[in-house]
Amino acid sequence: MSNTQIIQNFINRENDLYCDDCLSEKLDIKPRQQVNQICNKLKKQGLLKREVKQCSSCSKDKFINKMEGI
Ligand SMILES: [Zn+2]
Repeated sequence: MSNTQIIQNFINRENDLYCDDCLSEKLDIKPRQQVNQICNKLKKQGLLKREVKQCSSCSKDKFINKMEGI
């Protein structure tokens, strides 16, 4: 499974909102920049939304990732 699929699957099944850093940590996809690139790519494809909200994991206000249409 590619890292893109791993991220998509995770965001699909999680109701919580995660920032790039926490996704990197939880999914063990390093460096964090890779998560950032993948999420921006998915956003361009209209597959997920990125907006500044409180991350469910680190509780900081950051760009979080969620599925489009939620
Ligand atoms: Zn976080």
